[in-house]
Amino acid sequence: MISDATTGTPHRIVIVGGGAGGLPLATTLGNRYGRKGGVQVTLVDLHATHVWKPLLHEVAAGRMDADAHDLDYLAIAHWHGFRFRQGALCGLDRARMEITLDVVRTPEGEEILPQRQLRYDTLVICVGSVSNDFGVPGVAQHTISLDSLADAERFHRRLLAVCVRADGRAATGAPALVHIVVIGAGATGVELAAELRQTTRAHAGYGLDHLDPARDIKITLLEASPRILPPLSEHVAEAASELLRRLDVDVRTSERVTGVDTTGVNTATGDFYEADLVVWAAGIMAPESLTRLDGLETNRAHQLVVGPTLQTTRDADIFAFGDCAAATWQGHAGALLPPRAQVAHQQATLLAKSIAARLKGKPLPEFRFRDFGSLVSLGELSAVGNLMGRLVGGSLVFQGLVARAMYASLYKMHQVSIHGVVRVVFDTIGRLLRERLEPRVKLH
Ligand SMILES: Cc1cc2nc3c(=O)[nH]c(=O)nc-3n(C[C@H](O)[C@H](O)[C@H](O)COP(=O)(O)OP(=O)(O)OC[C@H]3O[C@@H](n4cnc5c(N)ncnc54)[C@H](O)[C@@H]3O)c2cc1C
Repeated sequence: MISDATTGTPHRIVIVGGGAGGLPLATTLGNRYGRKGGVQVTLVDLHATHVWKPLLHEVAAGRMDADAHDLDYLAIAHWHGFRFRQGALCGLDRARMEITLDVVRTPEGEEILPQRQLRYDTLVICVGSVSNDFGVPGVAQHTISLDSLADAERFHRRLLAVCVRADGRAATGAPALVHIVVIGAGATGVELAAELRQTTRAHAGYGLDHLDPARDIKITLLEASPRILPPLSEHVAEAASELLRRLDVDVRTSERVTGVDTTGVNTATGDFYEADLVVWAAGIMAPESLTRLDGLETNRAHQLVVGPTLQTTRDADIFAFGDCAAATWQGHAGALLPPRAQVAHQQATLLAKSIAARLKGKPLPEFRFRDFGSLVSLGELSAVGNLMGRLVGGSLVFQGLVARAMYASLYKMHQVSIHGVVRVVFDTIGRLLRERLEPRVKLH
């Protein structure tokens, strides 16, 4: 099963999407098979570098310089024995067991790589999610979503521009108010609002000294549900609301956005929120291109429907996982697994075992999600969330520095799954030393 004995062709595993799930999977499989022959592991991503998506709100707010955290796929591939091919998945031919990768261009539009085909024996699709504007007028034109590193960096540049402009106005004695509206109080919206309050305070400390962040920067968080963090427990939502209140974030619940224009945001209650910058964090869906993959089954959110082994329902050679897959959450009355890094990470671990079983012609294991709880970061020094499991006796709410340390450890775990413990320890020490030479926020 490992390689075709007649032709000597290796078994080709192609993983499309090098994110929170795909990159650890490619690394594990590359380490295991890459240098032995018989199996060829290829990772495909539309970008040349990887940034862990849960860091994007920190990049957007300016607390994190993405250049210091992004990883070159080619380098990781070289170290871990897999191949990397850049390009967006844009077609699938199941009969020929072949995917098509789209043209790759420079930001200026110059073609770097043409459209190409790539053959597979096992295909794994983990292309994540994009924001869903639910057809609300003006969202696509006048808001920014944190779908990619480019979006987060674009938001950060605009944030700096509005703050510098407001500082200039304040210097002349004119009103300097900056309105930032974040739509959607799920984890992403809450984390971004808290982060923005702290980094805009830090900007004032680096020379934007005519601007008084407490007086001049108004941050509003709008949520359609009656409370923030709808998927999390009441306790966690209450603790997060209190922390947001202390950070002077104006939280408005039961406010369904009906439209966004160049001046601000309208809601169903008839309220209008003036805005210089609007972030849309109110929902996600899988990329629409998945609905055109040679008849693979998708749901209304464009996710590929998978069974308990994470195989797609219409093709056992094709697996899907992470945000782009619709997998039933066992024991939760038919609900789907939530779009979380924790789910993608656990699924990647299972798939590394499944692929080993598949190569040996053995039955595949089924995925069972172990929910360890959720943590929501509220800036540099605080987080809130619940941890679940036997060790804490059910579900326990954590808050403050301890929760923040646990939140930071999630990223460390992701790094360990790619680089191993030793490299991550040295990297962490290096970063701690470098931090003394760098400003606390990104200033360009
Ligand atoms: C700001 C923010 C904060 C978050 N915080 C948390 C958190 O605290 N905890 C948590 O559990 N979750 C969090 N999440 C959610 C978490 O990031 C996702 O659930 C997780 O990244 C999903 O992993 P994935 O591998 O499915 O997709 P991703 O990590 O999104 O990776 C998808 C990859 O596919 C690539 N790709 C996309 N389309 C194509 C294509 N057509 N062809 C080739 N490649 C493609 C992308 O470039 C990307 O590298 C957060 C998300 C955001 C935006």
